Amino acid sequence: MGVFEALGQEFEEIVFFHDASTSLHAIVAIHSTALGPSLGGTRFYPYRSEADALHDVLRLARGMTYKAAAAGLDLGGGKAVIIGDPLRIKSEELFRAYGRFIDTLQGRYITAEDVGTAGEDMDIVRRETHSVTGVSPAMGGSGDPSPVTAWGVFKGMVACAEEVWRTSSLAGKRVAVQGVGKVGYHVVRHLLDAGASVVVSDVSVDSVARAVREFGVDTAEPDKVHAEECDIFAPCALGGVIRDDTIPSLKCKVVAGSANNQLELPEHGEALRRAGILYAPDYVINAGGLINVADELRGYDRDRAMQRVEGIYRTLREVFAISKEQDIPTSEAADRFAESRIDRISRLRRYWVPGRSTAGPRAVW
Ligand code: NAD
Repeated sequence: MGVFEALGQEFEEIVFFHDASTSLHAIVAIHSTALGPSLGGTRFYPYRSEADALHDVLRLARGMTYKAAAAGLDLGGGKAVIIGDPLRIKSEELFRAYGRFIDTLQGRYITAEDVGTAGEDMDIVRRETHSVTGVSPAMGGSGDPSPVTAWGVFKGMVACAEEVWRTSSLAGKRVAVQGVGKVGYHVVRHLLDAGASVVVSDVSVDSVARAVREFGVDTAEPDKVHAEECDIFAPCALGGVIRDDTIPSLKCKVVAGSANNQLELPEHGEALRRAGILYAPDYVINAGGLINVADELRGYDRDRAMQRVEGIYRTLREVFAISKEQDIPTSEAADRFAESRIDRISRLRRYWVPGRSTAGPRAVW
């Protein structure tokens, strides 16, 4: 497929960066700036081919547009990939070259960390451009987003409880948490504080041991946790856990967790609905990390970010209402919710205001 064909009707811009001396080969995809500057992380990965890298960056950039729109942010969707093995080619000069290239986009794309990149890499990028978030607290950044993401997931579970059991309390509910890493660990803590009982699983023996030692929770085998007898199944590890072969063994009433791309295929949203299981769309419930880095753009304040993340509760309630009104799966309702906000807000750009660019001020909310 040619590059322009891959862009279809949707994408605004795609940029290829090349610096031979540092082996930097990067692609930035800007899906939409209808709501504001595009924001999304930089994935550093040894793609098998340039076509694979292009496919991935387009898919991810599109996802960011929906995530930012649903989160109520004045941000659009973009993403970047650096092609190569980070363990072999990461260097200060590569990230500085990358930062200088990002700077040429003059704020149309703002980067952050993603798979293969870390906060310290963003600190290097920051030395060349302001168009970067997720830098370390010492540089005015927000640091680890995981506790904020976990708080959003917990608030999202409360919205699910109201929808299914007509109560905002999770006391007495049993939750199976798949993956007790950076996010899952904090989700477990919030659940126990709320009086829920928790069963955890993780492929890492150390992570399970920490959860048992600190919280005294039950454990399940990683390949069986989705089939636990529980009220809520919380995927907080990998994507693709909701599939043809796992849906029939789910015994929960709610699927709500932090993992990205939980549905293997879009039609699995409908399959959950038919099974009578409420699904909290992943990009809505796990938006805490994005809301957290977006806060950096106005001078980071963790309390404000935590408060802002509580809006996930309201968003999910609206998504569930759309799903019922239109008789569609919640995954589709989330897309409609995001698309409707993009339509409604981008229309305002028709009004010319003296002294303001059509894109509006560089506000983030
Ligand atoms: P993490 O790597 O710290 O934790 C993931 C945990 O899952 C690890 O402990 C890992 O051992 C475990 N795991 C892997 N495969 C497993 C399996 N088959 N069964 C059970 N456990 C398994 O990552 P994280 O930052 O906690 O993120 C978790 C998920 O949430 C990811 O999908 C991530 O993309 C998504 N997410 C994270 C954030 C954030 O702020 N960190 C924000 C949005 C989305």
